[in-house]
Amino acid sequence: MTPMTPSLQPSEGRVILDNVLRQFNRAADRLGLDQGMRVWLQSTKRELTVHFPVRMDSGEIRTFTGFRVQHNITRGPAKGGIRYHPMVDLDEVRALAMLMTWKCAVVNIPYGGAKGGVCCEPKALSLRELEGLTRRYATEISLLIGPDKDIPAPDVNTNAQIMGWIMDTYSMHVGYSAPGVVTGKPLSIGGSLGRADATGRGVVYAIISAAKTLGLDLSRCTAAVQGCGNVGSAAIRLLNEEGCKLVGVSDSAGGTYNARGLDIKALLGHNGRTGSVAGFPGGEAITNAQLLELPVDILVPAAIENQITAANAARVQARIVAEGANGPTTMEADAILDARGTMVIPDILANAGGVIVSYFEWVQNLQEFFWGEERIRGELERIMRGSFNQVVEIQQREGISMREAAYLQAIGRVVQAHQDRGLYP
Ligand code: GLU
Repeated sequence: MTPMTPSLQPSEGRVILDNVLRQFNRAADRLGLDQGMRVWLQSTKRELTVHFPVRMDSGEIRTFTGFRVQHNITRGPAKGGIRYHPMVDLDEVRALAMLMTWKCAVVNIPYGGAKGGVCCEPKALSLRELEGLTRRYATEISLLIGPDKDIPAPDVNTNAQIMGWIMDTYSMHVGYSAPGVVTGKPLSIGGSLGRADATGRGVVYAIISAAKTLGLDLSRCTAAVQGCGNVGSAAIRLLNEEGCKLVGVSDSAGGTYNARGLDIKALLGHNGRTGSVAGFPGGEAITNAQLLELPVDILVPAAIENQITAANAARVQARIVAEGANGPTTMEADAILDARGTMVIPDILANAGGVIVSYFEWVQNLQEFFWGEERIRGELERIMRGSFNQVVEIQQREGISMREAAYLQAIGRVVQAHQDRGLYP
């Protein structure tokens, strides 16, 4: 056996967890939280690690590792996505679960925060293997999930089909159809209209509000988007509809740039056909690192965490950074962007559209009564605009960043709920 060389670098999961905890502590200082409350809110409530076997197409049995972490359930059932990614580890899932608590609180929907993940390379799995892995993982975490307890949803590399398999697996175990156990399902089994593009749509509502606050005219703005998955592709399409000129788009395989503006319809077509925006004939090739530093008004990091760091933040030229991804900016980078006067719309606010429409889906499932798309969009816009305005008000009153203001709002709501419930026993 080759001896393992210990890495001196902290894992990406450790980096995002440290970051999220430092953001929490900064807000806790400002709120004057006592030590007991502070330690409790820094801790995750439940953490489940599962190792489980999956039969591969070759006949080989492979063991995968997955997690489901509930950070806090004071304001309601735990809520948060499931991601499939080779970088998934317990620290990352802890950090993302904590972000979900703050996200649900900042937009005032009645949930706590959770996250799940399986460490795997989903692109290397066949459809049958993906289904086998999903059904077994769903079974392993059924100790925790349920419509009143903990409700998963899509996240990085998971989608409506995967949610459908989770809903079916859970339903088979309980003996009846339980659509409310997951959100982001296919429409045929209780999914909601408007859920697929909800996160990207919410990002664009946040950008519209930010542009208004800063007195910018979106139809004269340029934008770059990192990531062309569920969030990025919807944000690109909707920003384009708002008249904004998209000049750069990238994904994990590379990026494309056109100073005169990319032809978005052609680009999304190319992405659909080839699985990537890289190699798009209507633009010149750029790297992900170059994309973040483009001379644009609006930058949307909509891929994964730790993208804007102390190493590149000073070269970010955008006036507005709207965090479509969870945790794309480190705290050091935040300070640099703040000093430059960049408005960073923090993840817990900017990308909350996904979980907001998840909430609508769950409400529709519980009531067995479905809403039209107009109602979904109207309610989403109302919550996004209202939450954005509340956060701006705190930001201006306290003279702090949007992130800190969003954290104050969110933590304040969780603490209030805790105080109103009282300490058991
Ligand atoms: N995965 C999404 C997020 O990070 C959506 C979560 C949900 O809808 O529960 O916000």
